[in-house]
Amino acid sequence: MDSVRDQLGRPLADLRVSVTDRCNFRCRYCMPREHFDHAHRYLARADILSFEEIVRVVRVLLPLGLRKVRLTGGEPLLRSELPKLVAMLRCFPELELALTSNGSLLAKHAQALRSAGLDRLTISLDSIAPEVFARMTDSELPVSDVLDGIEAARKAGFGPLKINAVVRRGVNDHTLLELARHFKASGDIVRFIEYMDVGLTNGWQMDQVVSGKDIAALIDSAMPLEPATANYAGEVAKRYRYRDGGGEIGVITSVTQPFCGACARLRLSADGHIFGCLFARAGTDLRSLLRTTQDDAELSAAVQRFWQARGDRYSELRALGTKHLPRLEMSYLGG
Ligand code: SAM
Repeated sequence: MDSVRDQLGRPLADLRVSVTDRCNFRCRYCMPREHFDHAHRYLARADILSFEEIVRVVRVLLPLGLRKVRLTGGEPLLRSELPKLVAMLRCFPELELALTSNGSLLAKHAQALRSAGLDRLTISLDSIAPEVFARMTDSELPVSDVLDGIEAARKAGFGPLKINAVVRRGVNDHTLLELARHFKASGDIVRFIEYMDVGLTNGWQMDQVVSGKDIAALIDSAMPLEPATANYAGEVAKRYRYRDGGGEIGVITSVTQPFCGACARLRLSADGHIFGCLFARAGTDLRSLLRTTQDDAELSAAVQRFWQARGDRYSELRALGTKHLPRLEMSYLGG
């Protein structure tokens, strides 16, 4: 079967699966504590897709062009027995399997994830300065837990790791060089992410964004860089190599230089809704169908209809004024 295309001719190649909407961090830019407190209603267990249901969605998507699955959340390592899901997905050998985690529980799970067949690991870490880390994550979990998790991941055979750092002006931008230097030494790839206006709870303002261009200039001023070619068409990070041959960094410019034209990503929330964009205002319910039909062809037809109707390009439209538009939280639809 030919790969399915959307309204802008984009294929469906990537799936992000949110396995839980819960997280043990309260990053101010993602799940600010005043909105995600004891009164917040998380998804009920019965509403969350089982591993079997997730595997079924993946099986249906493969003939439509799916190449890669990334498990995320919320914090995916809060979902019990996650390595079991990885092992179940590993039954599709052609699939690249990745996970994005805050790393705080990785020391415990890295080896099991690797043994289950996980290919790649991305760890979110905005600063290695303990007080800045604490301020960004609004958590009492120390940065050393994440660094231990990273060490365990290396020992388990993952590498090079991708380290994702969201940059907020006046909050962690004075610690970016320290972060880059730390991971330059270990050969992992730090990817600096422009702070995005995802969801409606973080109070995003454009003046809190440090542009990818300024981030690259800052790193270059201390450790000279040169642009590197993309690893593949549609790679979201702009790559830069250290001129001394000591590795690379990436910069993800979703705000100042959006890349919607290359977005081949479908998102599946923990409660089985699909989304064509991180900035979607609503999803399409796939769970009801999953639970009422045994016919994979019916599921496939539903996904194809959804993808063929997709025209989302929120980040490209941002400059025209999208601030007022309703949109869902990243912790729900999967980061
Ligand atoms: N808990 C996992 C983690 O921390 O990697 C996975 C989910 S988290 C929502 C995925 C990624 O989204 C993290 O790297 C996080 O920093 C990033 N993120 C969340 N809110 C963001 C925002 N407003 N702008 C840019 N990146 C954001």
